[in-house]
Amino acid sequence: MFAVTSFAPGQPVAVLTAQPLDRFLDYRAPEGGARLGDFVEVPLGPRKVLGCVWGEAEGDFPVEKLRPITRVLDVPPMRDELREFLVRAADYTLTPLSLMLFLATRAPGLFSGPQMIRVYRPGEPPARLTEARKRVLDVFEGYGGAALTVGEITRAADVTGSVVHTMAAQGALIEAEAPKDQPYPLLDPSLPSKTLSDDQAAAAEVLKSRADAFGVTLLKGVTGSGKTEVYLEAVAECLRKGRQALVLLPEIGLTEGFLERVEARFGQRPGEWHSGATMTERRRLWRMAGEGRVQLVVGARSALFLPYRDLGLIVIDEEHDGSYKQDEGVLYNARDMAVLRASLAQAQVVLASATPSLESWANAQSGKYHRLDLHARFGVAELPEMRALDLRGQKLPHGRWISEGLKAAVDERLANKEQSLLFLNRRGYAPVTTCRACGHQIACSQCDARMVEHRFLNRLMCHQCGATAPIPTACPDCKTEGSMHPIGPGVERLEEETRATWPEARVAVLSSDLFGSARALKEQIAAIAGGEADIVIGTQLVAKGHNFPLLTLVGVIDADLGLHGGDLRAAERTFQLIRQVAGRAGRHDKPGLALLQTHQPDHPVIQAILSGDDEGFWRAEAAEREALGMPPYGRLAGIILSSSSLEQAFDLGNHLAMNADPLLAIGAQIFGPAPAPIARVRGRHRVRLLIKAAKGAPLQAAIRQWLAGIKPPGDTRLAVDIDPQNF
Ligand code: ADP
Ligand code: ZN
Ligand code: ZN
Repeated sequence: MFAVTSFAPGQPVAVLTAQPLDRFLDYRAPEGGARLGDFVEVPLGPRKVLGCVWGEAEGDFPVEKLRPITRVLDVPPMRDELREFLVRAADYTLTPLSLMLFLATRAPGLFSGPQMIRVYRPGEPPARLTEARKRVLDVFEGYGGAALTVGEITRAADVTGSVVHTMAAQGALIEAEAPKDQPYPLLDPSLPSKTLSDDQAAAAEVLKSRADAFGVTLLKGVTGSGKTEVYLEAVAECLRKGRQALVLLPEIGLTEGFLERVEARFGQRPGEWHSGATMTERRRLWRMAGEGRVQLVVGARSALFLPYRDLGLIVIDEEHDGSYKQDEGVLYNARDMAVLRASLAQAQVVLASATPSLESWANAQSGKYHRLDLHARFGVAELPEMRALDLRGQKLPHGRWISEGLKAAVDERLANKEQSLLFLNRRGYAPVTTCRACGHQIACSQCDARMVEHRFLNRLMCHQCGATAPIPTACPDCKTEGSMHPIGPGVERLEEETRATWPEARVAVLSSDLFGSARALKEQIAAIAGGEADIVIGTQLVAKGHNFPLLTLVGVIDADLGLHGGDLRAAERTFQLIRQVAGRAGRHDKPGLALLQTHQPDHPVIQAILSGDDEGFWRAEAAEREALGMPPYGRLAGIILSSSSLEQAFDLGNHLAMNADPLLAIGAQIFGPAPAPIARVRGRHRVRLLIKAAKGAPLQAAIRQWLAGIKPPGDTRLAVDIDPQNF
C-alpha cells in the first residue's frame, strides 16, 4: 500500500467502484481534496456510481482529461483494516475486488443521504381493496408498521410500482420522511449475567483472557450446555473494552429468541443485519457501524463486510452450518472470512457448535485453534438417551412410517402431557411422484431435479429453483387417468399419518414452506415452546437452537436418509443433524429420549451417534479424508461453467482440462469436466471441473495463471469455487 493518505484538489486518484470491471478508474480529486478510503460519487458514462478512493492514479492519462470526483460522501473513509480485508478476500476467493466492494457497500441510500429517501406508511383504508393492495398492506403489517421504500414494497408484495403510486395518490399510503439515522441505544455489559456453572464460568474466563488479540477458539458443547451464555460473556468483555462485537447466526429469520436474550443480558437490543431488515434499518446500521455507534451486531454472513470502526470479537454460532457458505455470486465461506477479518482487526473469534465441522475440529486438534469444551448440559444431568429402532424385521403398512416402538413412546408422552418431535428432513408430501402405469416421474423442466408434491400448496414444486406446477390428474407421459402416485414420506405425509394415529393430539408442523413470513414462523415456534402442541413435526428447521422446554422425545423417522448421498460429507452432515435434533429433547429438568428409526443400526455413523462418541466419529472421518487427501488435509477448488448450451460448457471445460500446465506445475490433479452437483438450474447447464492439490500448494496463484486470458464463449459464465462444500 502507498504511504499517501490524502490527495490535493485536482490530483489524480484511483477509484474502486462496485461495477463489474476488473480495474480501477482514475479521477481528479474534488475541490475539497480527498482522503484514502473516502467513499465518493463518480461519473461513469451517463451515470453516477459509488466508489472508494483506493490510491494514487495508475494510468498515464493526462490529468486534465480526467473527470473529477463529483462528491465525497459524508461517512467515515474506509479503514485500512477493511481495505486490506477486501483485497485479501478477493485474492483468496479469486473474485474481482469490485465485487468485494459491492458486498461492503450494500447499504441503500448511502448515496442519496438520509433525507432523500422516499418512504411510505399506510394511510386511509383503500376505497377498493384489490388483491394487490391487500398484499401491500400485509407487507406493512409484516414489518410492524415500519416506513418502507417503493422498492421494498414492490418486491415484498410482488406488485408493480404503479400499484404503490395509485395507493399514494388515493391516500391509502402516506409519504413519510425517512427517519434520520439514530445511534443505537447503549448496551450495558455491567448488568448481571446468569449465575454460571463452574464449567461455564471457567470457559467464560478463558475467553475473556483472550480478548483484545487475534485468536480462534472452538467452543464445543452439547446443545443446551450454555455456549450462548458463555460467549455472551465474551461479548460483555469486548463491550467493556469499548470495542464492537459481531454475532453471526445461520438462520436469520429465527433470531427473535436470541435478540431477547441479548436484551435480557445487556438491557437493549443489538443492531440487526439481514435480508429481512428494511433498507432504512440497513443504512442506519451501516453508518453506525462505521461511526462506532453500534456496539453489537447480530446478523447473517454478509454482516462481516460492514465498516466497523473497531471490531473486537466475532462469534459464529452453529459454525458447522452449511449456510455460512455463500453459493451464489461471490462464493465465500463466512467462517473462513471471519477468521481472516479478525486477524486483520486484532479481534477474537469464537466458533460455537455442538457438532463442529471437520475443518474446525482438525484445526483445534493441530493446535491452530484453541478449544474449550462444555461437558454437561445446564441443569440436566445427562444427554438424552439414544436408541435405534431397527426397522429390518418390521414391515410397516403402505404409506406408514411410524413404527410400533415409536408409537408407544409418543403414547407415553401424550399420557404425561409432554411433547414429542417427529423429525423428517424432507419438505412436501412425497419426494417422488410416479405413474403406476408406466413409471414416469415428474421432473422440473428447468432443472435436473424431481418435482415434489406439496399438498399444502396443492402444487408440485422444484426445490432447486422454486418453480411450481399443478398436480396432474393424468400421467403426462402415458396419459393414464388417476395413475400418479406419491412414493416415500415428506413432512406433510407424516402429518397425515400422525393426525390419523393420534386424532386427539395437537399437531404442529415446522417446515420452511409453510410459513409466508419469518414472523409467522417465530409465532409458531413461540407457541410450541409455550406448550400449545403435543406433537411437533419438523424438517431441519427445528435442528437449530430453539428451546422447547416440554419436549422429551425426538423420533427420527429416517435416520438413514443422507447416509448415501454419494458425497463425502454425507456422513458428517447426517451426524451433525441427528445430534442436533436429538439435543432438542429434555433440555431442562426432564430427561429426554431420542429414537432413531434405521435399517442400518450397525452403520458407523449411527453407532457413533448412539454411543455419543463424537471424538471417535471425527477421528474416523479425519482418517478417511486424510487417506484420500481431501479437505481439510488437502485442498480443493471447483470451476463451475454455466451456460444455456451444455455443449459450450463442456467444450470450455475440456479445453481448460487439457491446457492446465500451471496446475500440473504445482502437482494438482484435475477431475472432469462433469455435470456439477446441481447440474441444471433455471434452464442453465452447470458443468464442473474439480481441482485437487496438496495442502501447502499455491492453488490460487496457479488457477489465476491458468485462467488468465480465458474468455468464455456465448452466454457461458465461469465461476471459481475455492473450498467447495460438495465434493
Ligand atoms: P447452547 O447455546 O449450548 O445450546 P444455551 O446457552 O442456549 O445453550 O443454554 C440452554 C438453556 O439453558 C437456555 O435456556 C439458557 O438460558 C439456560 N442456561 C444455560 N446456562 C444457564 C445458567 N448458568 N443459568 C441459567 N440458565 C442457563
Ligand atoms: Zn404413465
Ligand atoms: Zn427447477
